[in-house]
Amino acid sequence: MIINHTILIFAFVLIIVLTSNYLFKRQFNKYVTENHREVSQKIVNDTLNLFKNENPPKYEDLYKIGSQALDKGIVYMVNIDYENQLICMSTILPGDSVDMLTQMEKTMHSVYPHFEGQYQEDKYILEENGVTYGYVTIGYYGPIYYSEFDAAFIKAFNRTIIILGVLFFGFTTIFIYFIADKITKPITFISKKAKEIEQGNYSEIIDIKPNTIEINDLLKSVNSLSKNLNNQQEIKKQMAQNYTHEIRTPLTSIMTTIEGMKDGYFEITSERLDTIYAEISRIINLVENVDMLVETSDGQNMLNTSQFSLKDNINNILSSFESQFVSKNISARFNYCEKEAYKIVADEEKINSVIYNLISNSCKYTDEHGKIDVIIDSDKVNYTIRVIDTGIGISEKDKELIFEHLYRADKSRVREVSGKGIGLAICKNIILAHGGTIKVNSELNSGSEFIVKLPREGKLI
Ligand code: ADP
Repeated sequence: MIINHTILIFAFVLIIVLTSNYLFKRQFNKYVTENHREVSQKIVNDTLNLFKNENPPKYEDLYKIGSQALDKGIVYMVNIDYENQLICMSTILPGDSVDMLTQMEKTMHSVYPHFEGQYQEDKYILEENGVTYGYVTIGYYGPIYYSEFDAAFIKAFNRTIIILGVLFFGFTTIFIYFIADKITKPITFISKKAKEIEQGNYSEIIDIKPNTIEINDLLKSVNSLSKNLNNQQEIKKQMAQNYTHEIRTPLTSIMTTIEGMKDGYFEITSERLDTIYAEISRIINLVENVDMLVETSDGQNMLNTSQFSLKDNINNILSSFESQFVSKNISARFNYCEKEAYKIVADEEKINSVIYNLISNSCKYTDEHGKIDVIIDSDKVNYTIRVIDTGIGISEKDKELIFEHLYRADKSRVREVSGKGIGLAICKNIILAHGGTIKVNSELNSGSEFIVKLPREGKLI
């Protein structure tokens, strides 16, 4: 990361330095060219004025203009037209101009080492109102020339840009080093731990506190992934144990009974055949439940929707439990708004099986003289069904797992109650297929509250 960013910043700084240098020189050259044009024009105008005052002008006056031009790096020559006679030149000796041009070439090369320039001349005719006095020749080092001052200015600018570039590069590299250190360290740590998780070490929880929000989120995700995988592993283990147990128990019982009957220890009575039949029914029931689980995990495809009244169906289901409530002295109440019909578009049979399961669980896991409340609420979009009991409750750990198939909470507490730990997994599949949610609030030894939320008009696709 540091190397990448350093290269990037270096390239960025280099581009900025080169671009600003190029743009500045281009602009400066424009200024120098424009300046040369203005100076040349002034020389020509001054010379013309001298001719207008006195023809031919005094040599001293012309020479004065010429020596001022020379100071600006310009070779000045004045010729009189009719004889093409040179009457003034700013350099007295031919060598002077050569020296000056050599100096200018040196100056230009100090800024542009490969600059290719040469002596150039521009001719200006001295004429006004139809009178031609002669012409002025302006000689210079072209196509462009810098004075020593110009060259020094350009060099100072270059130095400043380079110093600023180096400072910027230095500071940002140091800054990036610190930032990268802060980001990469926790990422490296998290990726190391993620590898451990990949190798099956799910119990590992990464205990660092990164300052960056995004890395913190990543850390949370990795930790929750690890926790989920750990739970899944537990569930798989428990599932395997439960399936084996659920199938082995009736099979062993059937086998022992049949063996006894075969060896003549047991008489073949209708009671014994009934027991064998009951055990076989248990296995078939388990297989059917597993079938149902597989079917409901298919999501929305398995829904057969129609419109029906939730209120009526809950009432019917509660009535079917009446004898069980009476035998356990459980008082059950149904709370709803009289005026509302609670019409819903859903798979009636499957929603009934969810409500049946929740009420059946409440009845199973609630001791004698307990209470069960079924409450139905509505808002514009959803119906909320709550099944509340004063039963044995569910521990924090189990709350997360009871919706998994074949999971039964703490076996010592629920072993007396018949069940296969498959009902809630089916309920969850059915509710999710309807686009709803199912949750549980519970406290051990106080009771549980199962909350089902269902869209009134069926699942929106
Ligand atoms: P089961 O056939 O075992 O009841 P479920 O999937 O319906 O299977 O329930 C899974 C587990 O959740 C149960 O074994 C039980 O431990 C727990 N559970 C479900 N409902 C309740 C409840 N109302 N009160 C206490 N525990 C419950």
